[in-house]
Amino acid sequence: MRVLIIEDEASIANFVRDGLQEEGFAVDVAANGKEGMQLALMNLHEYDIILLDWMLPGVSGIEICRAIRQENRFIPIIFLTAKDTVDDAVFGLQTGANDYIRKPFSFEELLARIRVLLRSKENEIVEFTAAGITLNVEKHTVTSHARSVELTQKEFALLEYLLRNKGSVCRRTRIIEKVWDIHFDYDNSVIDVYINALRRKLDTPGAPSVITTVRGVGYKIDG
Ligand code: CA
Repeated sequence: MRVLIIEDEASIANFVRDGLQEEGFAVDVAANGKEGMQLALMNLHEYDIILLDWMLPGVSGIEICRAIRQENRFIPIIFLTAKDTVDDAVFGLQTGANDYIRKPFSFEELLARIRVLLRSKENEIVEFTAAGITLNVEKHTVTSHARSVELTQKEFALLEYLLRNKGSVCRRTRIIEKVWDIHFDYDNSVIDVYINALRRKLDTPGAPSVITTVRGVGYKIDG
């Protein structure tokens, strides 16, 4: 899952970014309205959700929200707002945001709202099972043949992406777009390193790997 945060207050942006990275999200941050507008519109298909500050220097959150909605009606948008009148909240939702959260907010509350929006987008699937592996997004747990497995954040995110697309080949470029953030240097071999780590942790000795390599294309977990 990949998130774009558009927020000019560095302390809030960092706090949300760090929390989401710990949950396995890939996170891009834009620190002003212009950069946020550019990132959002250039990479719209790569983001699963956008967190958008209302009051931004240059281009306002409202303008960005409208521009995003012209391009994509479905990507979830949550406003981060210091405004606290009901009128403003209603106006924010009318411009096409799905939800809003008032500052100051707790990370847990923000995460819960993000999960709700992503869940409705993904047809309420919070647990994925394939090839003897079970991954629970909300509990952040993984088991392989009923054995509990500890994964790093990126390993978890990569496995989640493969399981969400189980039965289909996941192209390397799409994996990079969805699991790594904008600072990824496009060294494809990094993906192989993570796939190998997942195999070491998930596979049963002597049995075929749960992750299939599709030569020259990507990887797949059979459904
Ligand atoms: Ca602001």
